[in-house]
Amino acid sequence: MALIVQKYGGTSVGTVDRILEVARRAVKTVKLGNSLVVVLSAMGKTTDGLVKLAKEISANPSKREMDMLLSTGEQVSIALLSMALQEMGQPAISFTGAQVGIVTEAAHTRARILRIDPNRVETQLNSGKVVVVAGFQGIANAGELEITTLGRGGSDTTAVALAAALRADRCEIYTDVPGILTTDPRLVGEAQLMDEITCDEMLELASLGAKVLHPRAVEIAKNYGVPLVVLSSWSDAPGTRVVSPPPSARPLEGLELAKAVDAVEFDLDQAGVSLLRLPDRPGVAARLFGAIAQQNLDVDLIIQSIHEGNTNDIAFTVRRNSLNQAVAVADAIVPSLGKNSRPELGEPEVRAEERPIAKVSIAGAGMIGRPRVAAQMFNTLADAGINIQMISTSEVKVSCTIDAAECDRAVAELCKAFDVANSPVGLRCASQKPPAVRAVALDLNQARLAIRQLPDRPGVAAKMFGLLAEENISVDTIIQSQRCHNIDGILTRDIAFTVAQIDAEAAKTVLEKSAVEFGWGEVAVDTEIAKVSVVGSGMVAHPGVAAKMFEALSQHQINIQMIATSEIKISCVVDEAQGITALKAIHAAFELSGSEKVQVPA
Ligand code: ADP
Ligand code: ASP
Ligand code: MG
Repeated sequence: MALIVQKYGGTSVGTVDRILEVARRAVKTVKLGNSLVVVLSAMGKTTDGLVKLAKEISANPSKREMDMLLSTGEQVSIALLSMALQEMGQPAISFTGAQVGIVTEAAHTRARILRIDPNRVETQLNSGKVVVVAGFQGIANAGELEITTLGRGGSDTTAVALAAALRADRCEIYTDVPGILTTDPRLVGEAQLMDEITCDEMLELASLGAKVLHPRAVEIAKNYGVPLVVLSSWSDAPGTRVVSPPPSARPLEGLELAKAVDAVEFDLDQAGVSLLRLPDRPGVAARLFGAIAQQNLDVDLIIQSIHEGNTNDIAFTVRRNSLNQAVAVADAIVPSLGKNSRPELGEPEVRAEERPIAKVSIAGAGMIGRPRVAAQMFNTLADAGINIQMISTSEVKVSCTIDAAECDRAVAELCKAFDVANSPVGLRCASQKPPAVRAVALDLNQARLAIRQLPDRPGVAAKMFGLLAEENISVDTIIQSQRCHNIDGILTRDIAFTVAQIDAEAAKTVLEKSAVEFGWGEVAVDTEIAKVSVVGSGMVAHPGVAAKMFEALSQHQINIQMIATSEIKISCVVDEAQGITALKAIHAAFELSGSEKVQVPA
């Protein structure tokens, strides 16, 4: 007999008929001899409706009252399902988050789970009942019993956290699509179902716009080794398994506050190439990385950002013994790319980083949604007087390139700061021969911030991201320009990054307030952007992935505004209006399309 946690999303419980359907599936699961906990979302678009009601009363409602309001949606669905089960002769009982002891931090609207007291659920399971639990909510401040919510989409997280706390055999997430697909089937009709995906890949996808799973649910599954599967509540098909290597033992106390960083990694076999003042038009990155892929050179980090006068800088790293070849390819390509639109800014130029560089990284699923972790890394390096050259971030990793001579010191300081032993390079999630690109995602809810003229000295990036972290603003796709300006004798660089659109104004305000104190210039916000990303843990072994992605965009005349890579993802920022075309083009280029059309309920 197995203990199973099943979670059903909004569409799956959107009508009375759907709730009856869920009840039938629950009964069937119990009849097979299993114990069952069911976690539910609110019916259909109930939560959206509640948000709308609140906005009709207040433009900026109190977060505490929002939690009070939004947590009601789930109470309706759990009571109805429990009644439906009882009608079918199956003993059942519904509970709110508070009633099953889902204790969270006191952060309203985005609380993390601290612990779950399994006793009440276990007692009810032992008496033969199906236990139906409200997703997305918890209770904080034990004495004061404050209702909290986990953040939109948080019922997935409730389900996986319960599965971890109850040491369930399996957590099944039932939704309105057949599982995890190569992209959102509502945007690309040819999206194809996957049998399995690694937790790391899913973490990236979820945070790059694929809302099929809440990223924090994946984090818990990874940390506690919860067997997780995503499947359709409309069929009996097996869905998609989310797999991870066996986790190290962790206490259940502080469930979602587990250690943020698991490993500090370094790579000394890196050399840097920068291309400055390239013309800003479609096809430039495609030509460059196409030529580099043809030589079979293994490119690691790539960053690109637009600068003054709409010219582009691209920087990338390669293995040290490939540096000369990479520079030769770049030198050969650059003249054929044409002039930039502002010749007075200077000619395009290729520059090889002469001093040896190292890449140092911190990695861990616990850093998701915790901007303080990246800020702490930058701070640690700053305190050690180490200057950061390139920054590349993903949901589960932050990497910086630094002077190779500083590598040992950087690693030692980071291990101390995050309380970890450093791990050898190349420690990755083991899946047999993972594909180069597993899936693609589109995020239309991002904004880009560009900060001009940051003084180029240790500590400035740390200050900046520290200020944002204090406001709890998560930053993605950070790009620091390779080009330096000399302003009154002070070397400066530009920096650009993306944040969620809802955080953009707050980010701008906080950075503008400190501009004079820390000496940086103008802060510009652009919300008309789309971020398209490819994710796959096999891409490290396939040099041509970036080139293929850029080529697909180039063929559709789509200009790339920013590029940021990590080991298992490549993201490009493009014009918002071209987002869906970009997604379709990339999905097709990697031949991810299936022959069967996936049915999606309206
Ligand atoms: P639920 O209410 O069941 O939690 P969600 O709406 O939160 O469902 O998530 C399911 C939706 O996620 C799908 O209907 C689909 O439009 C969207 N989606 C985005 N990317 C993907 C993907 N790669 N695979 C499957 N679904 C995706
Ligand atoms: N009902 C909540 C929401 O719509 C939580 C969830 O469905 O996961 O965000
Ligand atoms: Mg959801």
